[in-house]
Amino acid sequence: MITITPLGGFFEVGRNSVALEYNNKIIILDMGFHLERFIELTEDDIPHKKHSVRKLVAKGAFPDIRNLRRRRNDVVGIICSHAHLDHVGAVPFLAKYFSCPVYGTPFTTSVIKLLCEDKQTKPQLITQEVGSTITFDHGISVEFIRVSHSTPQSSILAIHTPEGTIIYGNDYKNDQTPPHEEATDLNRLKELKGKVNLLMLDCLYAAYDEHAPSEQQVRDELLELDLSDYRAIIATTFSSNISRLITLCDIADKLGRKVVFLGRSLAKYIQAAADINLVDLEKRGEVIKYSREVAKFLKRMHSPERYLIITTGHQGEPQAVLGRMVQGLFSFHPQDLVLFSSKIIPTDINKKHRRQLEEKLSRVQIIKDKHVSGHAAGKDHDELIRILEPRQLAPSHGTQDMMEAFKKRSMKLGYQEKDIFFLKVGERHQF
Ligand SMILES: [Zn+2]
Repeated sequence: MITITPLGGFFEVGRNSVALEYNNKIIILDMGFHLERFIELTEDDIPHKKHSVRKLVAKGAFPDIRNLRRRRNDVVGIICSHAHLDHVGAVPFLAKYFSCPVYGTPFTTSVIKLLCEDKQTKPQLITQEVGSTITFDHGISVEFIRVSHSTPQSSILAIHTPEGTIIYGNDYKNDQTPPHEEATDLNRLKELKGKVNLLMLDCLYAAYDEHAPSEQQVRDELLELDLSDYRAIIATTFSSNISRLITLCDIADKLGRKVVFLGRSLAKYIQAAADINLVDLEKRGEVIKYSREVAKFLKRMHSPERYLIITTGHQGEPQAVLGRMVQGLFSFHPQDLVLFSSKIIPTDINKKHRRQLEEKLSRVQIIKDKHVSGHAAGKDHDELIRILEPRQLAPSHGTQDMMEAFKKRSMKLGYQEKDIFFLKVGERHQF
């Protein structure tokens, strides 16, 4: 019998984490945090203090490991699917409650290592190549199947047991032309047809009846922009999207401008990529991590037309570099351009922050929404379901609306209500 217990990430977007039990041993798939709740709760708190961790778990910022802690010796592995914080962000805080290693692909463990250094924790990290399999003693193995997403070396986790395979597709996109990585491994997924008991699938964009566009599309759009007449160019995007950062560097090359990366989270992901020899973006531009140095650089920068500045702060976060630039760290000019290669993650706080940021940028040129998502849309879901033909389905990484949209689509493909499960955090699902 296989038991699945979500620890987070169902009926919500964030803190993705699922416990899977087989033969009395447990593996934890992902250990992410819920970004908004985490920020809200840690603004005037010290997150590495013990009481804060308890509070962060109780308030839903971290996966709910409270019941699992009693069985700490039965947990044999924490396996992370990719390097986004809503999948790995709680590892530095929670891995210490278990006595097992944390597994991930090279980029994922590289990011986790840096996150843990910040919090002065040292879980045992085991790096698995994309496409490889971990075999545990109690009869299960976990395979990292390559998928395109919006951060390098992402994977769908296939948990193989003598009683069938469980697929954890959190997160997933079927990009067959990603510019700087190999495409989603559809051939391997096709081999699993008919063997899958349960498919848990990222349902974030299930309501959109389309295929998610390729990262190549936004790369082409960005490289085609005529940016020759601007004074300062300040671009901002998701720090974990290494492919997009490469594209922004290519724009700078085209314009003959020097790249400068400003901000801690950019510095972290750039370092994680360099540490595993994936790509060395420090060779493409100067990386300035700490706020004091950022302020110093902006103060002494006399010819902004010579630079393409890449900053943190695309959601309008007031503490990020772009937020601080509009609060006086930089003297904007009407000929300056702020390029948002991102989309607003639609939470109330993000919408408020971005509105405030754009109000302050009213005298500056803005190009926004030059972005494609790393998440599958409705037609991609249909395609994967047809490829795998799983017996049961469980939409994950979504609110109730998104889960309902996924259910509706699945029923059109011939699934019955009894085969589609809306898993709830803390509730066991056995089969
Ligand atoms: Zn992700």
